[in-house]
Amino acid sequence: MTEPVFRFAPSPNGHLHLGHALSALLNARAAVALQGRFLVRVEDIDQTRCTPDLERDMFEDLEWLGVPLDEPVLRQSGSFPLYRNALERLQDLGVVYPAYLTRAEIKRFVADYEKDGAVWPRDPDGAPLYPGEDAVLSPKEQQDRAQSDGAFALRLNMKAALARIEVPLTWQEYGAEGSALFRSPKTVPVDALAWGDVVLARKDTPTSYHLSVVVDDARQGITDVLRGQDLYAATSVHRVLQSLLGLPEPRYRHHRLILGEDGRKLSKSNQDTSLRSLREAGISHAELRRRIGL
Ligand code: GLU
Repeated sequence: MTEPVFRFAPSPNGHLHLGHALSALLNARAAVALQGRFLVRVEDIDQTRCTPDLERDMFEDLEWLGVPLDEPVLRQSGSFPLYRNALERLQDLGVVYPAYLTRAEIKRFVADYEKDGAVWPRDPDGAPLYPGEDAVLSPKEQQDRAQSDGAFALRLNMKAALARIEVPLTWQEYGAEGSALFRSPKTVPVDALAWGDVVLARKDTPTSYHLSVVVDDARQGITDVLRGQDLYAATSVHRVLQSLLGLPEPRYRHHRLILGEDGRKLSKSNQDTSLRSLREAGISHAELRRRIGL
């Protein structure tokens, strides 16, 4: 077996919380248990919300956690040409189209569609599927926007993409902690249509989470993607992109989530569970591990 390579890939758009501590520690432990390496990747494609100060705080938190990081640390903001290149390859395959509807127009369309009780389909993250230009714009409006190059985003034509790849597509789901790390995987069928035509790039950000994550997992030689259960469904999109771009298929290991007192997933806007505020309040490493069930 080639040497396993794990990664922790946080976005410095807020402070790390208990859920990130669990993810970082599980990755570090798995790398030790499987005699692999452990890399950190800074997912900072959103250059308005990710700041150098937050990134510095993030590394301070990781240092305090005591996770031993291997080099190099990769920063997505320094890699835009690579994502553009991958996007162009997808465009050459004919599976990308310019999408002209703004977020506000999609929102208005969905509100209007649902006003009498009908339900517009949502993706696994709860965002409405892209309705397509025909549902919202007149042919003249579409023509005007095409002529003025007013594309708001580039989207993957999911049906066209699936038609190009060998289906059924699957991934192998392994365990994320303890003895489950060594268990045989279960095969999970990809359900990419549930996501509709995902965004690959926007006017203000020349790539998207989905595109950059598959490009980077491949170029960093990541063999094991160990991340939160909240990204389980997104793996379907990642497998489609890997298949289109001819990238290797990593092992996937999705871990349990730490929920807040309200029973919901932790968010970066909740200061109570940020590692920074817990640290300032004097939490010990032992107490932290207890709170995240390690
Ligand atoms: N950057 C993502 C986040 O902070 C994680 C990406 C991944 O692990 O695939 O939620």
